[in-house]
Amino acid sequence: MTKVEFVDKVSVTLIEAAASDSSVAMAAWVSNDADSEERLEDLSKVAGLLKFLYRESHMSPFEHGHFTFKVDVPLFVAREWQRHRTQSYNEVSGRYTVMKPRFFMADEVRVQKGKMGNYHFEPGTPDQYALYRRSKEIGVQSQWDIYEQRLEAGIAKEQAREDLPLSLMTQFYATMNPRNLMQFLKLRNEDSALKEIRQAAVQIEEVFANYMPMTYAAYVEVKHPAIVVDLKENKFNEQETAKNVVRNLNNYKDRRD
Ligand SMILES: Cc1cc2nc3c(=O)[nH]c(=O)nc-3n(C[C@H](O)[C@H](O)[C@H](O)COP(=O)(O)OP(=O)(O)OC[C@H]3O[C@@H](n4cnc5c(N)ncnc54)[C@H](O)[C@@H]3O)c2cc1C
Repeated sequence: MTKVEFVDKVSVTLIEAAASDSSVAMAAWVSNDADSEERLEDLSKVAGLLKFLYRESHMSPFEHGHFTFKVDVPLFVAREWQRHRTQSYNEVSGRYTVMKPRFFMADEVRVQKGKMGNYHFEPGTPDQYALYRRSKEIGVQSQWDIYEQRLEAGIAKEQAREDLPLSLMTQFYATMNPRNLMQFLKLRNEDSALKEIRQAAVQIEEVFANYMPMTYAAYVEVKHPAIVVDLKENKFNEQETAKNVVRNLNNYKDRRD
C-alpha cells in the first residue's frame, strides 16, 4: 500500500493572461467612437476613467481579457471555488486517471466562535491539533488503502474513488475575465472567507495587481476606501501595456484594410 503525502499549502500558477488596463479603457471609449491610440498616452486619464467605471458599476468594459490559472487545492476548496459560475473550469478526472495520494493537512487547527453570520476563529490548543493530525493520518491512509484495494480488484476508477476524503488535492484550470476575477477577490480575499481559499485568492490578487495596476487601484479604492494604491510603486509598466494594445489595434486595422 502507498503511504500518503500531506501538503499544507494551496497554490495558484498563472498559465496565461491577456488583460490590461488599456483594453478596459479602449473598450469603454469605443462606445462613443473615441478609442483612439493617442488617448492612451494620458495615463492619468486612463486611471481616472477606470476608477469612474468601477465606482459607478459600469462593469462590462472589465469583461475584456482573461486570466487562466492552474489551481492546486483540496476538494473542499475546489467545491467552494467552483460556485463562481462565471469562471470556466477543467479539472483532473477521477474517472479517467488514478488519483495521486496527496492530501491537505493544515499546519494549525482553529476553533469557531460567535454565532451564525458573525463567526470568528481562534487558534486551537496543542491537544486539538494533535487530535486533528493523528485522526487525519489514520483516516486518510485507511481510505487511500481502500481505494488501492478496489483498483487492484479491478473495480472502475469512478467507483473506487467514491470514498476518498475531501482533503484530497485536486488540480483544475480556472479562466476568468477581470470582472469575474474581482468578484472572486471581493468574496474570497475577505476575513469571512475560508482560510484556505483566501490563501489562493491572495495569490490571484498579486497577479491581477501586476497586470492591471490601475484597475486594481480602482478595485481597492472601492473595497477599502482608506487604502490608496500608489501606482508608481507598482512594478508593472503600464506604458508597455498601452503599446501592446496599440500594436494589436494596428494589426487589426492592417487585416481589415
Ligand atoms: C463567506 C461565504 C459563505 C458562503 N456560504 C455559502 C453557503 O453556506 N451555502 C451556499 O450554497 N453557498 C455559499 N456561498 C457561496 C455564494 O453564495 C456564491 O455562490 C459564491 O460566492 C459565488 O458568488 P457569485 O454568485 O457572486 O459568483 P458567480 O457565480 O461567478 O457570479 C458572478 C455574478 O454573476 C451574476 N450571476 C451569476 N449567476 C446568476 C444567476 N443564476 N442569476 C442571476 N445572477 C447571476 C451575479 O451578479 C453574481 O454575483 C458562500 C460564499 C462566501 C464568500
